[in-house]
Amino acid sequence: MTLPAFRVLRPASVEQAVRLLADAGPEATVIAGGTDVVPNLQMRLVAPRFLVDIKGLEELRGIGFDERDGLRLGALATLADIAASAAVERGFPVLAGAAQSVAGPLQRNMGTLGGNLCLETRCVWYNQSEFWRVSLGGCLKKDGDVCHVAPGGRRCWAVWSGDMAPALLTLEAELEVAGPRGRRRVPLDKFYRNDGMDRIALEAGELVVAVRVPAAAAFRRGSYRKLRVRDSIDYPLAGVAVAMAVDAAGICRAARLALGAVNPAPRLVPAAAERLEGKRYSPELIEEVAYEAIRTAKPLTTSASTPVYRRDMVRLYTRRALEDLWRA
Ligand SMILES: Cc1cc2nc3c(=O)[nH]c(=O)nc-3n(C[C@H](O)[C@H](O)[C@H](O)COP(=O)(O)OP(=O)(O)OC[C@H]3O[C@@H](n4cnc5c(N)ncnc54)[C@H](O)[C@@H]3O)c2cc1C
Repeated sequence: MTLPAFRVLRPASVEQAVRLLADAGPEATVIAGGTDVVPNLQMRLVAPRFLVDIKGLEELRGIGFDERDGLRLGALATLADIAASAAVERGFPVLAGAAQSVAGPLQRNMGTLGGNLCLETRCVWYNQSEFWRVSLGGCLKKDGDVCHVAPGGRRCWAVWSGDMAPALLTLEAELEVAGPRGRRRVPLDKFYRNDGMDRIALEAGELVVAVRVPAAAAFRRGSYRKLRVRDSIDYPLAGVAVAMAVDAAGICRAARLALGAVNPAPRLVPAAAERLEGKRYSPELIEEVAYEAIRTAKPLTTSASTPVYRRDMVRLYTRRALEDLWRA
């Protein structure tokens, strides 16, 4: 599949990038590693006049940790950098696990954290060639007015299929965003809109600069488990991230559980913290939390797997993650 025609713009600073994006409006698309944008261009899912290539922006690079300010991950940190970082592995195992699980080595070397957090949502009716889509008359998300997943509905169920967001949700991460009106911080749990067509809360001209994880979330036990067709490369069909702190007496002092790839947004399961914190391990408690996880998961037929199987795997992965982490 060939690429459409476009102009590549290479800003020299974040301020210039933001100005270019604000001036061009919907005619511009940001490109970082390009591992999502390029296939989408080839399939004509997007056809911008301008690609704003942010790879040269030094401010968006780097991974740093200190015990007062916590972890800062530049938006251009690659998934391979994050997976290989000693600070991440030591202090944030759920994040290291998620980074290691993304796609294959090629995508991890090219793909960036910012691109991962701003991915397009995915659906079996959407991620197809233009020829394939046109033969069906399009869908709500692109060139049509019907949802093939839930016919009659006006909602797009395309799925959030990134691995890093659930892990970062368990660590109470925030985004640093730059835009035409200056800088702001956005808690990650307010960033996703749970709408397949309007996925993230970035305003026109805005750019993710970095991700911040508070020091209080460091050194928690962590696990990321992922269901996919081929372990060597595929997007998640379900992702379960857990971070927890357990004291010397075996009592859970903090717990966060988040899910990916089973809704149009990555989702925290707030009932998990409510049920786990202050408690000791018991198989009944684990089962209750696993039940809360499947109540949050709403997978539909948007991928090459059935909703029932994906929900079952969410339950199993939640149970296994909690058992392993509690006993670690
Ligand atoms: C075969 C294959 C398998 C894959 N498997 C997985 C997988 O298992 N798990 C997974 O999570 N992903 C997967 N991906 C998707 C992708 O490789 C990764 O998510 C990667 O991290 C995307 O980063 P990127 O820099 O390449 O993003 P890009 O393609 O450059 O950008 C992705 C989106 O983010 C926007 N964007 C990029 N950077 C910024 C920024 N700083 N601020 C605002 N917007 C920004 C772009 O405009 C675009 O909409 C897969 C891709 C392929 C091709």
